[in-house]
Amino acid sequence: MNKDDQKKNTVTLAEKYLFPTYKRPPVVFVKGEGCKVWDEDGKEYLDFVGGIAVCALGHSSPVVSKALEIQSKTLVHVSNLYYTRPQVELAELLVQNSFADRVFFCNSGAEANEAAIKLARRYSREKHGAGRHEIISMVGSFHGRTMATLSATGQEKIQKGYDPLLNGFKFVPFNDLASLEKAVGSSTCAVMLEPIQGEGGVVCPAPDYLKGVKEICERKNVTLIFDEVQVGMGRTGKLFAYEHYGVSPHIMTLAKALGNGLPIGAMLSIEEMSSAFGPGSHASTFGGTPLVSAVSKAVLNSLINDGWIDHCSKMGAYFRGRLEELQKSCSTIKEIRGLGLIIGVELDRPAAPIVDSCLEKGFLINAAQEKVLRFVPPLIIQEAEIDRLCEALGEELSA
Ligand SMILES: *Cc1c(COP(=O)(O)O)cnc(C)c1O
Repeated sequence: MNKDDQKKNTVTLAEKYLFPTYKRPPVVFVKGEGCKVWDEDGKEYLDFVGGIAVCALGHSSPVVSKALEIQSKTLVHVSNLYYTRPQVELAELLVQNSFADRVFFCNSGAEANEAAIKLARRYSREKHGAGRHEIISMVGSFHGRTMATLSATGQEKIQKGYDPLLNGFKFVPFNDLASLEKAVGSSTCAVMLEPIQGEGGVVCPAPDYLKGVKEICERKNVTLIFDEVQVGMGRTGKLFAYEHYGVSPHIMTLAKALGNGLPIGAMLSIEEMSSAFGPGSHASTFGGTPLVSAVSKAVLNSLINDGWIDHCSKMGAYFRGRLEELQKSCSTIKEIRGLGLIIGVELDRPAAPIVDSCLEKGFLINAAQEKVLRFVPPLIIQEAEIDRLCEALGEELSA
């Protein structure tokens, strides 16, 4: 089979056998290294999607390969009926480097948020009795695709066709403390939000907004949940986004970059809440297997000890500077938002055609919301790579 036939074959087979849940371009990727990926034809692409904020250390990271090789030859899985060393060490490392005291492991961001919702409700039930189950989340938020997490997601397009949704979710506008104050009542058990909204179009909190949210939560005895599935793990230039704002939550969820591409999620909380998740209250077959935990531990250690978080800060500032330069000559760019290496560029037109033409030119970028380009490259990205993208973007946006 020649290469053209092979590619056609992959796309044809995908169209025949996979649910059409994604609208994908006819490109088949076969290999990745650092911030580059290659398709079946050997065409090279610079990757500013990074598996959607997943591959923080890039593709084919030696850190991941090494941990994977060693642990895959040692112990892959035995079930959470038993202790395993890598899981405990990963939990210890997460606790040592965050506000949290306890960790529950699962396999994805949605599952981490499920665990957070369940813990918040159960804790509230134990502490305050029945009738206090409501969770307030934000308009434009994204928390996942399971029934509970899509019920917690403030976007109609995610919820469409799945009603009845889970009861007990209420939405208020992001960055609006007065609405939150009014919404938190006697049936509220938690407030759940992304410190920076990712899928919502890279929307940052106003100064002191998160402090205000925490103040309301503490005054009204309500649990504060930060969904750091996308912005955690160094992406904003600190290990966790909440560190920028001087506010820690009671519960935090992680996934995406935690395993650099291996599926793992985590729900972290303060000690006070740990008794609400007693034996038998929650579980996961695959959560925190020795294999994924060993890889995650290696990833986390590398992020912390190899200087990647500072590098991310520097590259984020550099990237932003280049985009701001571009904005001066491109009226197409309305606003540039973000922190570290999560950057959103709001355009005056639909983003999809720009995404397509960048793909043509050998750049993977992505749109979050109709008119917002989102850049979440590996944290190991270099200036020269950012330059190349910005040149291509300049051509596209002024065309
Ligand atoms: C991606 C994402 C999720 C869902 O994660 P999955 O691993 O796809 O279930 C939840 N919250 C946020 C903020 C995300 O970006």
